[in-house]
Amino acid sequence: MEPWLRAAANDAALMSDFKTVCGFGGRMSGSGQDDAAMAWAMARAGEVAAAARTLTVPYDAWRCGAANLELLGAARQPLACRPLLRSASTPEGGLELDVVDAGRGRPEDFARLGDRARGRAVLVRHEYPFTGDHVHRRRKYDMAVEAGAAAFLIANNVPGQGVLSGSSGRPRGGAGIPAAYIDHEGGAALASACEAGAARVRIAVSGEEVEDARASVGIAEIPGGRDGVIVISAHMDGHDLGVSALDNGTGVAAALAAFRALAARVGPDTPSLRLCFFCAEEWALTGSARYLAELAPAERARIKFDINLDTVAGDASLTALISDFPALAAVVKDAGDASGVAVGTWLPLMPNSDHANFARHGIPALRLLAGFGKPESRVNNILSAGDVPAIIEEAELRQAVAVTCALADAALRMSDAQLASLASR
Ligand SMILES: [Zn+2]
Repeated sequence: MEPWLRAAANDAALMSDFKTVCGFGGRMSGSGQDDAAMAWAMARAGEVAAAARTLTVPYDAWRCGAANLELLGAARQPLACRPLLRSASTPEGGLELDVVDAGRGRPEDFARLGDRARGRAVLVRHEYPFTGDHVHRRRKYDMAVEAGAAAFLIANNVPGQGVLSGSSGRPRGGAGIPAAYIDHEGGAALASACEAGAARVRIAVSGEEVEDARASVGIAEIPGGRDGVIVISAHMDGHDLGVSALDNGTGVAAALAAFRALAARVGPDTPSLRLCFFCAEEWALTGSARYLAELAPAERARIKFDINLDTVAGDASLTALISDFPALAAVVKDAGDASGVAVGTWLPLMPNSDHANFARHGIPALRLLAGFGKPESRVNNILSAGDVPAIIEEAELRQAVAVTCALADAALRMSDAQLASLASR
């Protein structure tokens, strides 16, 4: 490993930055913790980049009030639940609904159910989000809405882990249905009631729209002498069951360390290096979507490559999700060799973090991710109360910094023609 790369991986402030980010709490957008963490991170980035500023973009904020779920009938019991962000509200007093078990809630499950979802509460299962054939919660929710379901219940697949937190993706003014996470045990109770032919629940959810809410976007840039921008991005916001250590304290801390190490690698012969921190990522990737949409097309076209860090520790394995840009596979391979880390690649676009919004604008983009295809890894604490700093190994975070630096440095050293060729699909 080159000495500068080794030094980058050994960054003295990496772990204290990581703990500081987690110390702000779960950083749920709208909680204020996200903005406080952003202010701190931009001050940190400002130590190496003169141009560090925080913008805001609008997002569809929403606040959850009371939520209740009860299994009725012979096995009557309260069930732990947590409404999905932007869940539709029930009428006051709640709804009484029959439940139908849609298994994992994949397209074939909904096809099998046919009309039986109509007017009922549909039960599906959460899946470990980082596998090649994963079906996202928001897609399952959309299928339930489309099938005419009256409510959506998604059970944690991991026993003993409690409920999870996540977004429904329902836009402001969108029709939608009441939707909530339940724990594994609650899912099992509902499934047995379904099997016994008498699954009925009372669900009550009340949430309210928050008008005129804005999400922070932190931008720091080290100007190079050539036109073009290489971006390192990470989302700052999270969920509040744990402290969003995996998702995404790891990405934020690694991005700051990489930015520090790369500052001296930017010069008259390189493009510029930009650090982007987004909020409202957990709200259907809204922060980065609005940031990119609001850039003038010519300004957007200056961005040549996005390296998005989201959940980069929690397992020793690292994978780059390369968003249907086949030319990125070789760049990842070289960066892995340079940093002494075996980094896998996954070609199909996975719209599970901010890189997807860059990719949608035709910008070569990847997400660096730990634990891809490893549901038994510590990454399975994502979205749960178990997403805390203690599950992160320092060595994992350090290798992510080394790979990020190698990736960005390779891009900084590419010719304009080489950078342009990354975009071919
Ligand atoms: Zn994330």
